[in-house]
Amino acid sequence: MKLIQVMLTALAISGAGSESLAQFKGQGPIQGVPTESRPVEKQWKGIFPFEKEQVFFSNDFTGARLNKANEIGKRTYDLRIEPENTPVNGSPWYAFKVWANQDGPVRFSFSYPDKVKHRYEPKISKDGTHWEQLTFKEENGIRLYEVNPGKDTIWVAAQELTTSAHVDQWIKNLEKKQGVKSFSIGKSTLGRPIQAFRFGNDQSKNYLVILGRQHPPEVTGHKALVAFTEALLSENAATKSLRDQFQVIVLPLLNPDGVDEGFWRHNAGGIDLNRDWSAFNQPETKAVRDFLKKEITGDKKLLASIDFHSTFDDIYYVVEPARKGNVPDLVPNWLSSLKERIPGYLPNIKPLYSEPPTYTSFSYLFETYGAESLVYEIGDATDPEFIRTKGRVSAEELARLLNEFVGSK
Ligand SMILES: [Zn+2]
Repeated sequence: MKLIQVMLTALAISGAGSESLAQFKGQGPIQGVPTESRPVEKQWKGIFPFEKEQVFFSNDFTGARLNKANEIGKRTYDLRIEPENTPVNGSPWYAFKVWANQDGPVRFSFSYPDKVKHRYEPKISKDGTHWEQLTFKEENGIRLYEVNPGKDTIWVAAQELTTSAHVDQWIKNLEKKQGVKSFSIGKSTLGRPIQAFRFGNDQSKNYLVILGRQHPPEVTGHKALVAFTEALLSENAATKSLRDQFQVIVLPLLNPDGVDEGFWRHNAGGIDLNRDWSAFNQPETKAVRDFLKKEITGDKKLLASIDFHSTFDDIYYVVEPARKGNVPDLVPNWLSSLKERIPGYLPNIKPLYSEPPTYTSFSYLFETYGAESLVYEIGDATDPEFIRTKGRVSAEELARLLNEFVGSK
């Protein structure tokens, strides 16, 4: 298919954190977003000590973000959270540890640069693995959170901390128990491997590609990817048959630097990777492009792709229905089957583009391979149980429809 360059007007990536590009529709000629590397601010790492009260904050771990801590009252602190660079989408990620040498509450509030709104309600953990939600009290117009750490460290994060090490561990487990084959497709800007794995029938010419975590704070999107992938690997008739007829490739963490450095949005080149799918200035997007070019050759076909993200609500961004790819009507049929199988669930579906663009992974894969592309957005606060249910049912229904398509050829 022909690649058509569509230009984006100066993209107001600051402000509201919506993933939607639909807001740019009807704004006249769309200008390209420059994706050449830009400097990012290095985060100072260490302990923020408050000796008098014997209260300590630390950002000295992978995935952390805390830029300053100021005392604003008795054992009460304002925590300053800043992005890696600007302009940037308003998804202020934070993660830190707190402890005290005397019992009693420690209270804190968050502050961000101008116009950036608080987005994530803190989750706390005693071990970095099990997390619970923290609620706030409003005092004098300030949103205050309270923890009682004592000498035990409490972890606080915008979402459950899920770093590249967690993702590696997940892949290793799948390799051991499910026989998936892991590999790396290249290196990130800072030299971290971009992990991938495959499963299914390695002789098949039919491909399904699953992508995730271009944007670091989108942990609920990662959970959806995990649920979906694990369902594809399960002993269900439809998913089993899909594994006989397809090769599935999973790229679960396209931005390992952003995740491990505690970024709000960008990679270590200071760029939103999901705007770099026409220029390919960044090593992460280039690695995916080059890997797929080598993989999908001759009469092999990339039939479908799903890119997992998080935003304020659950949304499916789809290719405009009038535009047909390799499996016409796959996505509309899929989403309507979800409605039937999950009682009371009405999928929120939004077509993304009126013209063929090339600047996000979604549109690149549709334009280049004719892949039926879907952006699978999960809400920041969607219930984990529902994420799993929807992931499982989505995988089963997609498998059923793809099997039907391959069988009918
Ligand atoms: Zn995203």
